[in-house]
Amino acid sequence: MTFEYAPAPESTSIVDIRPSYGLFIDGEFRDSIDGDTIKTINPATEEVLSEVVAAGPRDVAAAVEAARRAYQTGWGTMPGTERAKYLYRIARIIQERSRELAVLETIDNGKPIRESRDVDLPLVAAHFFYYAGWADKLSYAGFGPHPRPLGVAAQVIPWNFPLLMLAWKIAPALACGNTVVLKPAETTPLTALVFAEICQQADLPPGVVNIITGAGETGRHLVEHPDVDKIAFTGSTEVGRQIARAAAGTRKRLTLELGGKAANIVFDDAPLDQAVEGIVNGIFFNQGHVCCAGSRLLVQESIHDELLTALKRRISLLRLGDPLDKNTDIGAINSAAQLERIRALSEIGELEGAERWSAPCPLPDRGFWFPPTVFTGVSQAHRIAREEIFGPVLSVLTFRTPEEAVAKANNTPYGLSAGIWTEKGSRILWMADRLRAGVVWANTFNKFDPSSPFGGYKESGYGREGGRHGLEAYLAV
Ligand code: NAD
Ligand code: MN
Repeated sequence: MTFEYAPAPESTSIVDIRPSYGLFIDGEFRDSIDGDTIKTINPATEEVLSEVVAAGPRDVAAAVEAARRAYQTGWGTMPGTERAKYLYRIARIIQERSRELAVLETIDNGKPIRESRDVDLPLVAAHFFYYAGWADKLSYAGFGPHPRPLGVAAQVIPWNFPLLMLAWKIAPALACGNTVVLKPAETTPLTALVFAEICQQADLPPGVVNIITGAGETGRHLVEHPDVDKIAFTGSTEVGRQIARAAAGTRKRLTLELGGKAANIVFDDAPLDQAVEGIVNGIFFNQGHVCCAGSRLLVQESIHDELLTALKRRISLLRLGDPLDKNTDIGAINSAAQLERIRALSEIGELEGAERWSAPCPLPDRGFWFPPTVFTGVSQAHRIAREEIFGPVLSVLTFRTPEEAVAKANNTPYGLSAGIWTEKGSRILWMADRLRAGVVWANTFNKFDPSSPFGGYKESGYGREGGRHGLEAYLAV
């Protein structure tokens, strides 16, 4: 049984959302030249939060021009020790404003405050601190004695970790001496706009960071702008493919961080209670809107029934509801469109013959919600075993031998992450050697650290973010 907790809502009085925002270009907020407007909503209530610009091609050009000027008039040649000071300052302001940013992230995105407060924001600050530390040590990073920046970086990010993806993009770019134009996702622009204010607060030279809001069209204008030297994209494999096509044959350097369909592999000697926690964290963290989510559970046949019983009992205890409540485990789905995608793929799962089970939790009347769901009896041919659902839906498959586990885990067009649960260290190493995944977790899942590189194989994209490896994407090496 779930205990009834008294509501513990986080106050929203700390955030001050303006009715509308301009574009952050050349160090100031400006009206759009040729853009449109879009509204961003709170997905937990469907309430309109604010109106932002959908930047047009001339807006995009103005931002790229500002970034170019800032690159040429100082940032690109500034000593690393000086760039580091700005990055440390930004990191400290993020820490000071972290409660405000966490609340705003939760309101705009729908993720539980417990996650934005305890995971997203600490990682955002850590990322800036980490790359601030590299800014004056690039000569020792293994890319030659004086590695040079690339120039102007066009960065397009998704809605699942709005501020964290911004940090992953902006911190290494600036540390290496590049200037940036970043486009947040259309459903989650607000924390990026507060980040623009933080750049002002940190006295960052104008044009070093430019934030332009908008949807896919704005993103396309940005990545296709001829004066961009580098494109960094995180999002769907489909859009990633379009961008790769557009960048082919140009001088632009490209890194892509795309989807995933990670296997979380549980052997019969694994500590089951811990594995259950890891499976839950693997697929229900952030409503499953995680590219490295453990969306395919591969369980050794002999413990299938025991593990599934324990897993369903645990999932039944998850609390779904108001993302601002500090007791909430599962927040809102980010958008009506994403909810529709999750519903459609789940229906296909049933039609193809897998058995569907959902936690018996009531869903709020307003907003976008999907209960934590488990499909058993899934075969490798099922679409729910092959396609990224990007929601709180787990597909369960079985295996008998480690060889079979490896074969099934690798039987996917993706290759971003994997998890292994076993008591045997030798088996962890044997498996990790054979799994085609950029990140392999052992007896844990969804652990992130700025010093650890992250990225994929195959259709999960190319290039690494984080760690020393993450510098390479922003240096002319
Ligand atoms: P998307 O790829 O359409 O959007 C990601 C970002 O790219 C957004 O900022 C969007 O405005 C921008 N964009 C869209 N079209 C563009 C174009 N032609 N040129 C340049 N930028 C463009 O992703 P989505 O529609 O929000 O989600 C669809 C699916 O993508 C999800 O169901 C999920 O499977 C996957 N996804 C993966 C990640 C990830 O972290 N790897 C993140 C979000 C979504
Ligand atoms: Mn929103």
